[in-house]
Amino acid sequence: MTRDIPAHLRRAVIKRAKDRCEYCGLSQDGQEATFHIDHVIPRAGGGQSSAGNLALACVSCSLRKAARRTAADPQTGENVPLFDPRQDAWTQHFRWEGVQLVGLTASGRATVVALAMNRPLILAIRNEEAALGRHPPR
Ligand SMILES: [Zn+2]
Repeated sequence: MTRDIPAHLRRAVIKRAKDRCEYCGLSQDGQEATFHIDHVIPRAGGGQSSAGNLALACVSCSLRKAARRTAADPQTGENVPLFDPRQDAWTQHFRWEGVQLVGLTASGRATVVALAMNRPLILAIRNEEAALGRHPPR
């Protein structure tokens, strides 16, 4: 995931993401595990290690996304593209309901489920983040 990415590119990706997971919005601040540099289009699928194909992802989102590019929309069962942080606007696909992340589109819904973005542990973390004024992300 992070192998072969030069330090300057890694820093640029982290800065562009404002040090937050580009999928679930979790802040790297206060998280012990170092976030991953995700290949939006997986390397196995021809994705390059270039700024236009990289995104900062928390460990959970990164490992769950892995080499996937599509997942089932829980509303229709149809296989749809996952949210693409380089091509898609986050606010068009997701919104916050307190600490719950709600998918607004087929891709948003599929991504919420595929990346388990409302699992109990992350809800607990978001509650802690909210108490620290770091949730919802701005
Ligand atoms: Zn995440």
